[in-house]
Amino acid sequence: MEYRGLEELVRKVFYETEGNHVMVEKEDGTAVRLQMFEEPLMGIGSAEDPMFLDYKKLEAVGPWHRSPAQWLPEAKTVVSLFFPISEEARKSNRTEPKTPSLEWLYCRIEGNEFLRSFIGRLRDYLREAGYPACAPALDERFRAFMDQKPDNGEDTAADGFARTVYGSMWSERHVAYLCGLGTFGLSKGIITRKGMAGRFASLVTALELPADERPYKGLYDYCIRCGECIRRCPVRAISEEGKEHKPCHDWLLHVKKEYAPRLGCGKCQTAVPCESGIPLRNGSFSC
Ligand code: SF4
Ligand code: SF4
Repeated sequence: MEYRGLEELVRKVFYETEGNHVMVEKEDGTAVRLQMFEEPLMGIGSAEDPMFLDYKKLEAVGPWHRSPAQWLPEAKTVVSLFFPISEEARKSNRTEPKTPSLEWLYCRIEGNEFLRSFIGRLRDYLREAGYPACAPALDERFRAFMDQKPDNGEDTAADGFARTVYGSMWSERHVAYLCGLGTFGLSKGIITRKGMAGRFASLVTALELPADERPYKGLYDYCIRCGECIRRCPVRAISEEGKEHKPCHDWLLHVKKEYAPRLGCGKCQTAVPCESGIPLRNGSFSC
């Protein structure tokens, strides 16, 4: 399979995976049909990219971050996909900072289920075509740490690490950066050419494809440091120095008390110049 063939497969799987349309139940008892995600952008990286070694450094992700070969020994290629949140859901969340829209909350929870189905199906198609593949987020070895001591999935905590962290053994955002999909913003999301409001999924595979060129050099090249995400955050988790994970995480748990089983916020990704494109320094943006 070549690059074009994988793009076509991604599109086919996107449309045949069920769950991208949901009925959002409103407080007045009515329900509206919502498409959560638009067609994904694809970025390709090499499984041997030395940046994966950099991600093991504490100042990046940490020693618990696994390389592609640790997920799949025969890995050659990393496929990262960005699913833009639909205009309808983004628009609904451009309101005042304290109240997340129901549409946004569905994208976070039901959206996650859709993305898990999607990436599992894509992985299975590749396997059936003869290319071993692993979707780290679905792998039984995968761990995410929410204010927990990291564990590298083996017998001991990673390198005897003592602090609690927010992170995981496979950072979708760092993988997206490596695969050329976009750069970080002040709010620590990734700004793609379709903006920051969206979700990621990825897999590693033995299928060998040429890596995409990264059209940037610095981690924050696409962020214009306008500060709008600072102003949008209801709990001041973002500052000019970056984002603190704890207040954000605590806020999401607070939201869940009211909206369980759903949670979410996304105010730093809506009504900001990087919502749906790469912001330009004159205040507009490009798609
Ligand atoms: S809102 Fe402005 S400062 Fe925040 S990530 Fe987007 S471009 Fe950067
Ligand atoms: S940083 Fe967290 S709490 Fe703040 S706006 Fe973004 S999602 Fe909401």
